[in-house]
Amino acid sequence: MSPLEGSCLCGGVRFEMTEPFLATSHCHCEYCKRIAGGYGTVSGRARTEAIRVLEGEELLRSYTPGEGSAKTFCSVCGSNLFGGGWPQSEMSSVRLSSFGLEYERKPEAHTFVRSVAAWEILPEDGLPRYDERAT
Ligand SMILES: [Zn+2]
Ligand SMILES: [Zn+2]
Repeated sequence: MSPLEGSCLCGGVRFEMTEPFLATSHCHCEYCKRIAGGYGTVSGRARTEAIRVLEGEELLRSYTPGEGSAKTFCSVCGSNLFGGGWPQSEMSSVRLSSFGLEYERKPEAHTFVRSVAAWEILPEDGLPRYDERAT
């Protein structure tokens, strides 16, 4: 099986995953809404070591909000790629949007639902919901 490969919108950054995700989830926190321009982010959780940047490492920029972990994006196209403190943290999150429309693994939980916005519609999809991170 070839490793799962992800990229940003402009294609300047390419990376691959050397291990399957340990979990996947929606994050509805306010930071994720702001960086994503929508309901939040949808990510897979993996060991930081399992993320191998193949191209465009110099294009990556990180921003660490006040109480959150670092979020990393492509400085050319703005695509949000990694969170959870990448690359310093032991575990990171990887945005599922990086893998294109064919990627099939579904999110398995809603996290930070305490930060659902007044305009936001939380789907009745039967997934577990957590006020903060999943336990
Ligand atoms: Zn880009
Ligand atoms: Zn979040």
